[in-house]
Amino acid sequence: MLRRAVQASFVLLCLCILFSAYIHRVMAADAAFLKLILPILSVSEAGEWEDAAGPVPPDIALPVATPIPVEDLAQQDEPASDLPPLPAVWKNVAGAESSAVVRQLQDVRVIVLEKREGYGGSTAFLEELPTTRQLRVTVGGIMGDALSDGQVKRIAGDAYYCGTPPTPTPTATPSPIPTGKTQMAPTSPASPTPVPTLSPSDPYYVWRNDVVKAIETTAEMAEDGSMTQTLLLTLDKTYVYQLYEDEWNYYIALIRPKDVYEKIIVVDAGHGGLDAGTISQGGAYLEKNMNLDMVLRLKELLDEQDQIKVYYTRTTDWKPSLRQRINLANDVEADFFLSVHCNANETRALHGTEVLYDSRQNAFSGMNSRRFAQILLEEMDEHLGLYNRGIVAREQNLTVIKYAEVPAALVEVAFMSNASDLEILSREEARAQVAQGLFDAIMRGYEELGSGAEQEEGTEEAMGQRKEDRWGR
Ligand SMILES: [Zn+2]
Repeated sequence: MLRRAVQASFVLLCLCILFSAYIHRVMAADAAFLKLILPILSVSEAGEWEDAAGPVPPDIALPVATPIPVEDLAQQDEPASDLPPLPAVWKNVAGAESSAVVRQLQDVRVIVLEKREGYGGSTAFLEELPTTRQLRVTVGGIMGDALSDGQVKRIAGDAYYCGTPPTPTPTATPSPIPTGKTQMAPTSPASPTPVPTLSPSDPYYVWRNDVVKAIETTAEMAEDGSMTQTLLLTLDKTYVYQLYEDEWNYYIALIRPKDVYEKIIVVDAGHGGLDAGTISQGGAYLEKNMNLDMVLRLKELLDEQDQIKVYYTRTTDWKPSLRQRINLANDVEADFFLSVHCNANETRALHGTEVLYDSRQNAFSGMNSRRFAQILLEEMDEHLGLYNRGIVAREQNLTVIKYAEVPAALVEVAFMSNASDLEILSREEARAQVAQGLFDAIMRGYEELGSGAEQEEGTEEAMGQRKEDRWGR
């Protein structure tokens, strides 16, 4: 009897090994296929990889993660017994039929973390990293097995996803086309390839529609033998997250920011990390630090109001990619995207303030990039009072503006290549004035946005007349 059992387990083990080898082969073939079709599937999605190939900032964990409180639903009554049945997709979630939380969240996109044996005394908390579209979930006090990615379930409408999504590794090098798949020619701008329609059973359907793009887990053992586990989830977008729990699961509701906040702005301190931006002659000043200093001063002013939700692309010295910066503004459907920079030119005599804007929005009436740029310039003129270089239309050659789907402007505060501008920038007092100018411009922008007032046009030429600035030059 025992011998038969041993034999049986041996056969089972062999089967397992063979099966996992097969799975690996299938996955490798799929990855190759994905590389090939990715540029064809969707132009906008392929475009997003443009600067994803750049070095990942070494301090990617440094972006300040904002903790999110747990919603208290513990006191909710049990759902009434005469409720209509839940959508079929919830059959994948243990306890769903009896859960008051599920009744409340059934129409929302939800990430469900299944509580298994030993999770009874566990606690969870969330931290958001909006610039990298990441969400950090920490579950402490686990007295059982570590959280596996099989416990990370996603429900979006009638779609259900579970486990780790496939990792796309797009590349320009075409790979051989696996047999059995539809052959598609490499992309050429002259002959656009039609986007294939994928069925929900296709693995790429999962990759394209799943809100979770990557899962990284780390675990730490406490002295009492309990485990604290961290899941770093990379999502398709930045959301507002709400955490709920019942006895079976933790639930993370993914809410559209505009459904939570009426007013949203994204403020971007240019450059950062290994990208210093402009460096002053002699190397005493780096643009990345100058930009961050002015943005942090602006943040102090914005922190004092609670009407406007502000997302910062960075509040520390690291480098978000250009796409991450503008994606954040697009993801949260910001009312404004404001990027703060300092200028430089080989002609060291050039000096003053200019504001770049998205020229594609010229035709829009009401609030647009151009109007926002004009307001910014006026307030910079009022508060900093450097030589006024006007507003400058930009389009293709400026990524942050090129991909903006919201009114976007980039303030070039002053020229770090100009000795006199640099001397002013080096004064704390001047940088405080910049912050005040930016703050007032944001408030004016919202006033105009709210009133829907017609733009005041035609002040541009008059504004370009200032030859002397208030700093006595
Ligand atoms: Zn810059």
